[in-house]
Amino acid sequence: MTADVLQFLCRSDNFGLLLHDGASGATAAIDVPDAAPYLAALKQRGWTLTDILITHRHGDHIDGVPELRAQFPQAKLHIPAAEAERIEAVTGKAHAHLRDGDGVHVGTLMGSVIETPGHTLGHIAYHFAKEHLLFAGDTLFSLGCGRVFEGTMEQMWDSLCKLAALPPETRLWCGHEYTQANGRFALSADPDNADLQARMKDVDALRLQGAFTLPVTLKQELATNPFLRAGNVATFADLRERKNKA
Ligand code: ZN
Ligand code: FE
Repeated sequence: MTADVLQFLCRSDNFGLLLHDGASGATAAIDVPDAAPYLAALKQRGWTLTDILITHRHGDHIDGVPELRAQFPQAKLHIPAAEAERIEAVTGKAHAHLRDGDGVHVGTLMGSVIETPGHTLGHIAYHFAKEHLLFAGDTLFSLGCGRVFEGTMEQMWDSLCKLAALPPETRLWCGHEYTQANGRFALSADPDNADLQARMKDVDALRLQGAFTLPVTLKQELATNPFLRAGNVATFADLRERKNKA
């Protein structure tokens, strides 16, 4: 496998993510909360940015794009078609407006776009099937999911079901380090789940060391994430509303 993912913190709890293709040298940023940590990571690795893949229009995912593009003017910007106008107002013109099923090349790596409305109406995820990588933005978090700001509960549930149906060995990368707080709520919702109890022990130990809790396999999320385990939209919506108030 030639794909390499570099994960680092941006702002307070956003993840910065770089996907590097060892075969071609291509490197993609997945969302850009803040340019400085990306520039530092690229410099440290000696990588040249070739692509920027955006999941959704929120400022904590796109605000660093202009500064990053100024440093790497040749990098191609890929954004969700449904949010193109609002994103381009911040980032400038994109190379591609993506819809469900569209392909995205990062060097020799081939990703495909999955529309996941709910958190925002135009939110998309990027799936690299051969490498078993999923970049889920603010749709799916470890032990949790994004808030449903724009879509309906049905839309968000459908979006989560699409991601849950990907191969279980898929490694999930997401937009925020929210796992520990999510896990506390998850334990309150599903207190007898031994897999969840074990995962939370690991999460607490990782956070104590200052380490990240991602990536995680979808297999592990399917065993522990109460939102993926809800089973139907009514149960999902009830959980989501309880989490909003927690
Ligand atoms: Zn967001
Ligand atoms: Fe976010």
